[in-house]
Amino acid sequence: MTPAYRAPNDHTHEGLVVNDSVAFVGSVNARLLAGPVYESRAETFVQHEARLGPLGVDRSSPHRLRSLIGSARLVGRGGGEFPLSTKLDAATNAGATPLVVVNASEGEPASKKDAALLQLRPHLVLDGAEVVAMSVGSSDVTIYVHGGRPELSRCIGQAIRERNVSGDGAVTFRIVEGPSRYVAGEAGAVVSLLERGVALPRRKSVPLAVAGIAGQPTIVSNTETYAHAALIVRFGSKWFREAGSVDTPGSTLLTIAGSVPTPGVVIEILHPVTLGSILARVGEVSRRPRAVLLGGYAGVWIDGATALLALIDRHWLRQVGAPLGCGVVGVLGDGLCGLAETARILDWMAGESSGQCGPCVTGLPAMAEIMFELADGRASARDVVTLQRLAVDVRGRGACGHPTGAANLLESTLDVFSSEIREHLRGRSCEALGIGLPLPHEPIDVSQ
Ligand code: SF4
Repeated sequence: MTPAYRAPNDHTHEGLVVNDSVAFVGSVNARLLAGPVYESRAETFVQHEARLGPLGVDRSSPHRLRSLIGSARLVGRGGGEFPLSTKLDAATNAGATPLVVVNASEGEPASKKDAALLQLRPHLVLDGAEVVAMSVGSSDVTIYVHGGRPELSRCIGQAIRERNVSGDGAVTFRIVEGPSRYVAGEAGAVVSLLERGVALPRRKSVPLAVAGIAGQPTIVSNTETYAHAALIVRFGSKWFREAGSVDTPGSTLLTIAGSVPTPGVVIEILHPVTLGSILARVGEVSRRPRAVLLGGYAGVWIDGATALLALIDRHWLRQVGAPLGCGVVGVLGDGLCGLAETARILDWMAGESSGQCGPCVTGLPAMAEIMFELADGRASARDVVTLQRLAVDVRGRGACGHPTGAANLLESTLDVFSSEIREHLRGRSCEALGIGLPLPHEPIDVSQ
């Protein structure tokens, strides 16, 4: 008799209830994070299929798979929020067999959501990649990870071996490790590494889905996006759209970082909910934070009062100019210094560029240097004007979005921390530094 597998939020397993909108690993209301917390951490292929049932898709009907993903209206969860079905259609119509790449690089150091998925639910990601490959008539999938995360490569490698033993895989998986650098995770850099062994972003005249690796149509999407595709195929597009909002259907993963009791905790948001509600329940933040950095290091600061009222919904946040990006929520506690934190991040971003374009080579280091002086109480009002000008100068320039990300961060800093800037211009230096968001430094080497 065929078991009746149920959708993950159908209360079929024991778990931890937080509330209707916020879920941890193992919560009964979770989707991507549903299921038991295993002693071995990673869910094995046998455990995965016992919980969710076999993937069971009709390989002979790629059009039906694309149509299912299209009606789910799944948008990418890596930051760009591009509709996955648009990529699939473009790749299918490009006239050659598409290549499929899972971008599991998660170059944003404060983000842990993709690593959590790969370490806890690797088969959800591999299922999703298999679905996407079948939907475009492809049989090869590349999993692209940062070389500095050997534990992830091991975890995915183990999951691939388990599937190979089962012998019913429709696609062949391979793992490719890229450099451990921020911009090496940019989609153009991923394609560049897979094509030429050098992870350099480049200007794209046509979408990668049309002409990517060696001119072949190439679908590059984020780890979480594939995991959603695995559930859509099992439980349907209507089920998928029951979470999230009309404009951004489906659940979304967040990483809560900074001034919280457990920095780096990953949670799943089932329905639009205010950040204040999330922080009160998950971050145990009882006092209003000074500010929140939303969307990661290329994101924007929002002052604490506004941030608590912000609705965590990708479409809503984009409309108000604070995209959720990679899903990082960096909390700056009251009494800490946003200028010092921004100086650290800008300095790191300057060191992480690929060094190809003027805005990154000269603009970003200049921003960081002046921001350090400002935090130290050594800058003048003219320096603040220079910062404003630098943000305008680098925005939209360069071969990728890195300079624009730095400009977003800088401009929001000048806006949200204007009272601190006035204090610092009077010569006050910061005793309280930033929140110490993680900024790993790796040797500058963009090649394998
Ligand atoms: S804009 Fe910066 S990070 Fe992007 S390609 Fe140019 S130098 Fe590299």
